[in-house]
Amino acid sequence: MAIVFRIRDFFHPLLINRLRCEFERNQWKAPEALADMQEKRLNEILAHSYASVPIYRAKFDAAGLKPSDIRTNEDLKKLPVLSRAEARSAGKALHASRLRGLHPVEYHSSGTSGTPFAMLHDKNANALEFAYYWRHWSWAGYRLGDSFADLGSVYFLTRKSDDIQAWQPLLRRLNLSSHQVSPTNAPLMARELERRDCKILKGVASTVYHLALSMEEAGVRPRPLRGVISTGETLLPHQRALIKDIFGCLIFDSYGHMERTVAVSQCEKGGRHVNSDYGLLEFTNIRPSPDGTTLLAEGLGTGLHNRAMPFIRYETGDTFELFRDPQPCPCGRTFPLVKAIHGRQEECVVTPDGRHLTSLFVLPEFVTGLRETQFVQEKADSLVIRVVTGNEFDANQEEQLKSFTQRLTGPSMRISIARCQRDDLVRARSGKFRTVIPLQSSTADKSPASTSPV
Ligand SMILES: [Zn+2]
Repeated sequence: MAIVFRIRDFFHPLLINRLRCEFERNQWKAPEALADMQEKRLNEILAHSYASVPIYRAKFDAAGLKPSDIRTNEDLKKLPVLSRAEARSAGKALHASRLRGLHPVEYHSSGTSGTPFAMLHDKNANALEFAYYWRHWSWAGYRLGDSFADLGSVYFLTRKSDDIQAWQPLLRRLNLSSHQVSPTNAPLMARELERRDCKILKGVASTVYHLALSMEEAGVRPRPLRGVISTGETLLPHQRALIKDIFGCLIFDSYGHMERTVAVSQCEKGGRHVNSDYGLLEFTNIRPSPDGTTLLAEGLGTGLHNRAMPFIRYETGDTFELFRDPQPCPCGRTFPLVKAIHGRQEECVVTPDGRHLTSLFVLPEFVTGLRETQFVQEKADSLVIRVVTGNEFDANQEEQLKSFTQRLTGPSMRISIARCQRDDLVRARSGKFRTVIPLQSSTADKSPASTSPV
């Protein structure tokens, strides 16, 4: 998930401030009050979707339902699920018929599924995102106006910049280039974190881990931060331990997706809280975990804010691990807890000069006409980009994809592009799609697509 943060998309100060105050209170409310609040918002979204969004009108009609038949979270089960494939092929049937006044902004995501998806987020959805980040970061000790560091590649790719770092004074944001992470560049990055007085570091889990590894190898340690916010993928225990050691702070894991139906954020006591005021998370196919100590379930998300393109009972595609006997979190927040999320674990491409690239999945967002994209590292210095393309993908787009990738890998990687059909894409043995097939497994089985999780 790559979010291109543009101030103008988030410039709704009154809305944000109102939501921020509401969000502050919500986290401590009694569970019954939270459920009431969710149901009120749910009823509003359902009524709006029935009246204005063609795909939901059809779903309600086919099920013989009216919005008034769904009053509680439990009633929501009467509506059919919105699958990921259905959402991607729905086009304007998922858009509200009247967008005036909603201030929708279009975002493109290749996500980690490899298939691009255009989404509309309205002003409510953008205010929501701001208020949500603000609250979660405040759990890590962030205050609005503090400097923070963002480890990523989008900032540098959009500016065609090969810089290692860039400071944005207005946002008080230090951008650190995730494709420049190496033991050679680690001391400079550590110095910049101190010079800009960054309190928080945010980045995709594996990228932050590689920064920590590079700092360890270079023998540098920045001044302790207040917190590291890890996003985008599952953070593994050995990664967490090293990040904590190098940055001298707690790691606050977070889970969400571009569709903005579900947000789970980790608190200072380690609890993974489902943000009930952000969206509604339902669990399906609940079964015991392999050792029987916990439960596993698939997650369906219903966004409670975005009216321009609502997602109702939407397949998140991730597996949630649940407590058999949930206890309140010692932090005192009342949002429900999940034990873990078994979702994305992005593989890396390792460049000939030893850098670990974990953010290749953002590249298709910068190229037109890509239906599916997969990076297969065949040799230490050879990377094949398998692409399933539409008509808009021409020689210019091909050159663009190649040059963006070359920019990330550096000149010593040989890059070739192979146009292919969906069935030609390499799949893991589980059938799960991976954007990156790393060197050791690029000979993995090719098997038909599967929607089953890990
Ligand atoms: Zn907690």
